[in-house]
Amino acid sequence: MKKKALITGVAGQDGAYLSKFLLAKGYEVLGLARDLTAVNFENLDFLNVREKITFVNGDMADEESLRKIIAEHQPDEVYNLAAQSFVGASWEQAKLTTEVNSLGVLYLLTAIKDFSPKTKFYQASTSEMFGDSHTEGLQTEETPFHPKSPYAISKLYAYWMTVNFRESYGMFCANGILFNHESPIRGLRFVTRKISDGVARIKLGLAEEIRLGNLDSKRDWGFAGDYVKAMWLMLQQEKPDNYILSTGVTHSIRDFLNVAFEHVGINDWERYVKIDPQFNRPVELYALHGKNDKAKKVLGWESEVGFEELVKMMVDADVERLSKNK
Ligand code: NAP
Repeated sequence: MKKKALITGVAGQDGAYLSKFLLAKGYEVLGLARDLTAVNFENLDFLNVREKITFVNGDMADEESLRKIIAEHQPDEVYNLAAQSFVGASWEQAKLTTEVNSLGVLYLLTAIKDFSPKTKFYQASTSEMFGDSHTEGLQTEETPFHPKSPYAISKLYAYWMTVNFRESYGMFCANGILFNHESPIRGLRFVTRKISDGVARIKLGLAEEIRLGNLDSKRDWGFAGDYVKAMWLMLQQEKPDNYILSTGVTHSIRDFLNVAFEHVGINDWERYVKIDPQFNRPVELYALHGKNDKAKKVLGWESEVGFEELVKMMVDADVERLSKNK
């Protein structure tokens, strides 16, 4: 019998990569989408998986829809990737962010408890929950959380609810605390994709500048295609747990710009980048740097694509995409 997995946020970056991964493993993939007539299939088409997914209609903010889906399908595994995932928007949309990212998880977990308690559950937690908190410069699974945005706070609620359902009801509920991971299908609002898209446009003569906020922010950037494998591995363990996924290496936005522009043969990139204070956040996180020893040891997982390879992959994909439409 084929295993059945439900992926919420199936049309997002991670949803698309995870679908591809699970389909290759022989899973039946159910994808939750808010409006079946208006799904943006771009990411799923990019990875050639759209036709192989069965879409089900539901919204993380609508408890009834989630209860119906879980009762009807009783999936073996649920990967909860749906979220209002853009940190920058979470100050303006704090209520929506909380409804989707926090309450939505409570609804989903309750539905699983009531209708399919053997279902294994993966929660997409985030390094943003740490804020600037660290242990000797690095974040580990034991580092205290200090969220610094409505997004991070909403995710912290979901993290603890996931732990609580594990402890209260003995359910298989795992948290992946993921550091930033990118790809050619990262949303265009995110800084990495904004840069790869902007660099490609400048290279092709379609734009003259990229407007950015703080260039000195540092992040631990990996490749989404590597990270989805570990999501699956977390649900194949004997016991559920919380795991950090990171590369263990940080780079600044400036580093990202350097590699991206250099890749298209532009060395004096400063003249194309305009600092625009509207992209600064009310509270900035200056550095996120994760220690992934537990994932390495227990899951046997390691991030494979390095920083430069990732940046070049993103720029190449945008150059190709834009050249086609030119
Ligand atoms: P993404 O590309 O923004 O995808 C999020 C998905 O959630 C979209 O498909 C969106 O659907 C869906 N969604 C939003 N609100 C919904 C709702 N009310 N009901 C149902 N679906 C809804 O995000 P991602 O980069 O793939 O990230 C996946 C998950 O990992 C997210 O939970 C994110 O917060 C978390 N995470 C990501 C990173 C990272 O670096 N990428 C790091 C740590 C954690 P629509 O297309 O309809 O908007």
